[in-house]
Amino acid sequence: MSEAAADCLFCRIVAGQVPAQVLRRSARTWSLQDIAPQAPFHVLVVPTDHHRDIAALTSADPGLAGELLAEAVAVAQANELTQGGYRIVLNTGAQAGQTVFHVHAHVLGGRGFSWPPG
Ligand code: 5GP
Ligand code: ZN
Repeated sequence: MSEAAADCLFCRIVAGQVPAQVLRRSARTWSLQDIAPQAPFHVLVVPTDHHRDIAALTSADPGLAGELLAEAVAVAQANELTQGGYRIVLNTGAQAGQTVFHVHAHVLGGRGFSWPPG
């Protein structure tokens, strides 16, 4: 594990060093229950490779960025969020609310959401 990954919560989760509730896995992503859910359904789709945010991921590996989005949609569909609607969020940078600097897509559903976001 690289030095960056050793300090990264999601790298530690995919390495089995920190426990998490894993909903599903694809070849290059893990979907985890968020530890502090903001909606009745709140799952994080996390690539196993470390990239700090969606900009870094898209630049380094656009194919994996596509897989991340496809997996987020698959998570929503598999959990019957399609009818009521759902939100996929990629907070990018501290001002936007990113707190874990290993790219992840939030999949949120099971309630209504306001717009614009806070
Ligand atoms: P961000 O703020 O970076 O967009 O999202 C980070 C998310 O990770 C937050 O929703 C937060 O609740 C979640 N989180 C923080 N620590 C843990 C943890 O140890 N396990 C899991 N499963 N989620 C976590
Ligand atoms: Zn990481």
